[in-house]
Amino acid sequence: MRTRIQHLEIILKLSERCNINCTYCYVFNKGSSISDEAPPALTEAGITDFRRFIDRAHDEYDIGTLQIDFHGGEPLMMKKQRFAHLCDELLQTRRPGSTLSLALQTNGILVDDAWIDLFRRYDVFVSVSIDGTKAVNDRYRLDKRGRGTYDRTVAGLRRLQAAHRDGRLPYAPGVLSVINPEACGAETYRHFVDDLGVRGFDFLLPDDSYDDAPVDDDGIGRFLTGALDEWIRDGDPSIRVRIFHTHLARLLGAADAGVLGHTPAVSGTYAFTVGADGIARVDDTLRSTADPIFDPIGHVADSSLGEILSSPAFRQYEAIGGQLPEACESCIWNRVCSGGRIVNRFSRQQRFDRKTVYCGATRRFLSRASSHLLNMGLPEERLMSTLES
Ligand code: SF4
Repeated sequence: MRTRIQHLEIILKLSERCNINCTYCYVFNKGSSISDEAPPALTEAGITDFRRFIDRAHDEYDIGTLQIDFHGGEPLMMKKQRFAHLCDELLQTRRPGSTLSLALQTNGILVDDAWIDLFRRYDVFVSVSIDGTKAVNDRYRLDKRGRGTYDRTVAGLRRLQAAHRDGRLPYAPGVLSVINPEACGAETYRHFVDDLGVRGFDFLLPDDSYDDAPVDDDGIGRFLTGALDEWIRDGDPSIRVRIFHTHLARLLGAADAGVLGHTPAVSGTYAFTVGADGIARVDDTLRSTADPIFDPIGHVADSSLGEILSSPAFRQYEAIGGQLPEACESCIWNRVCSGGRIVNRFSRQQRFDRKTVYCGATRRFLSRASSHLLNMGLPEERLMSTLES
């Protein structure tokens, strides 16, 4: 009998190049040259290798949901015809009882009607990277000539939204936003909801480690609590902010609410990255650490899913995620936070054995979230039993 995997998420890099140059980018601007040395985009042979890998994975495991996240670089730098071929191949791997879900993360600049037709044809959920208002976004999200990208990105977002309104896209586009600690969380939240009309988004903590000094823990805490207050004030269940949903769900005791690499590992859920060169590695954000954990695990042409999941790097990654740093042992939030995102725990000297550089922000955010839950009528004993369980 095949072993059950509830949810398998593979971050597949369609392009190892980008049409812009965000200053904080962990792929290109944090000292890693892996992408520069890889082929610019997934090749036709690479598509065949990947498709065969997925077929073998289905033979080996009973996979509930297989989610493929198309990333880059900028994934829309892949030729459209090749993207269509990739999706056709992936659709052919579907098995009864298993759901295939396709998602794509883009800076939005290259979105046009032909891309929208492809997203529709292959049922691809698209999310756009924007860091906030024009002033905030254009501080770090710059093109190769140093110009801000906000206007071009928002034009792409608007095209996707219009396509959804006209029935040409099954999903409204989402937004992913890296938190700028100098920005105002409330203003950023209002900008996404009121000005851009986005109903589903997520705030990402910057990929900083202890080796990236100085880190503005206080600013991140201020941002998160400000945005959270606005979201609670709206009280609109149609507005979904993933970081708020997952953390509130965990405070309410839902053990299966989580985002890999962001909250404590959820059993039966696995994720890893496959580059355009076909090489599998653990969590892509760890490339900036230059730690051996990010060494290649294997190539999809000649590795099985079982070999990847049982590899020393993957096992180590899981162990780190499930292991509480010593400094967190007496913390009241440790069942929810678990020491924080793995990349934020890294230092060259102690590797991943430290609490997150955003510990203060996490405490502040979870305190505020708990206070909102108590104000909404959650019995204190229930909250305490989650925190102490
Ligand atoms: S809030 Fe800080 S001390 Fe508490 S578990 Fe998270 S990282 Fe550790």
